[in-house]
Amino acid sequence: MDERRDVMKILWDNGIFPTTREIDEIMKMGGLSYVMKKIREGKAYEILRKEESKFTIIRGDRDFPAGSGKSESFRKLFLSRYMKIRKILESRVSLSGFVNLDYAIKNESESTIIAMVRDIRDSKYGRILDLEDPSGHIIAYYNGNENIFPDDVIGVKGNIRNGKMYVKEIVYPGVDNVSKKEKVVNSENGIAFISDLHVGSKMFMKENFLKFIDWLNGEKGKNVKYMIISGDLVDGIGIYPGQERDLELNDIFDQYALLSQYISRIKNDITIFMIPGNHDLVRIAEPQPFLGDEIRKMFPANVIFLSNPAYISIEGFNILIYHGTSLNDLMDYIKGIKYENADTMMAELLKRRHLAPIYGNKVPIAPMDEDYMVIEDIPDLFVTGHIHVHKYSIYYGTILLNASAWQKQTEYQKMHNFNPDPCKVTIKFLNKPGLETIKF
Ligand code: FE
Ligand code: ZN
Repeated sequence: MDERRDVMKILWDNGIFPTTREIDEIMKMGGLSYVMKKIREGKAYEILRKEESKFTIIRGDRDFPAGSGKSESFRKLFLSRYMKIRKILESRVSLSGFVNLDYAIKNESESTIIAMVRDIRDSKYGRILDLEDPSGHIIAYYNGNENIFPDDVIGVKGNIRNGKMYVKEIVYPGVDNVSKKEKVVNSENGIAFISDLHVGSKMFMKENFLKFIDWLNGEKGKNVKYMIISGDLVDGIGIYPGQERDLELNDIFDQYALLSQYISRIKNDITIFMIPGNHDLVRIAEPQPFLGDEIRKMFPANVIFLSNPAYISIEGFNILIYHGTSLNDLMDYIKGIKYENADTMMAELLKRRHLAPIYGNKVPIAPMDEDYMVIEDIPDLFVTGHIHVHKYSIYYGTILLNASAWQKQTEYQKMHNFNPDPCKVTIKFLNKPGLETIKF
């Protein structure tokens, strides 16, 4: 009898309120140890799940394993990135017959290699690239005008003479570059995309958000069965200079408690996926793990906490979710790009098959043995947030979406001359191509 009581207490603490019959089921499944295991794994939402699950979390509900030590891990991280992206490039017909760099250097002829860009600079001869693969490195000259970022892994075709390479063509792992049709699924259900709530900030647009919740709970929102929030759930503390002045709540736990109050108003047949962003209570280095137990237990059981990035499939429709911190870095490397061109930047990420391609700029990268920021599969929809604009387009059949925020312009943003485009909800109906946008 005691175990039943303990199970009940733990479930209540986690915002799950089972019926007597459900408790019977849980006891059959293994009682307390079953419940504890699910909670430890961050899968409390599975405890009461009766019907066959309509979504799969492909990547994003496990903690990332620690690396094997700082400098050793960075070496392994870059090797992992190189190998993962090389595997994608190997399937490109135009790169068949590629060779190791040491072999190409010895043979001094027309060669195809797969290399990482270790350094890049402009010169009067065009761009000079320092290319490297596990067997060696070479200085290469290139006159093309594609965007090349440091640390890009690319296929390179060219001539080698006197230990230098004269590049003719660069191949990105990218997408297949054939116009593919957008995926549609035989389901009336819809997914709502929002981002960057920044609850706890004085600029959080409470009234607009409440209007959205009413819409969701009402007749018009009845087909929306899922919601995805791409990070910056709360405003956090100590994120930027002078943030104290912008905060309504200066305790981060109070901020999450308030967020939970809003989220709990949403009808519980909507499954809500949340990833953290740079304002949330997890390490800032990417990939970011999902939020800790002390936060998760404040929320109802229809909320699923995922890591940043995460990759999920909803009724067969595959979605890559990333907060978008690296978009700021891309701004420094793409000439003439504006925040409003979020989709162009997202296409650059997809083209590189990497979510944070530039190392050592603003996005801190965690030292790990495996690179989890590689985009291993092309999603049907790729969503980010972070830059507080609303933009979407289609890139070779993949929908690129920067989901809108719920925060008014801050003094800090004003200082940086940045105008957000808040309170827009994007809905993806699974049986229709394209997206619908509603402004609240
Ligand atoms: Fe944000
Ligand atoms: Zn952010």
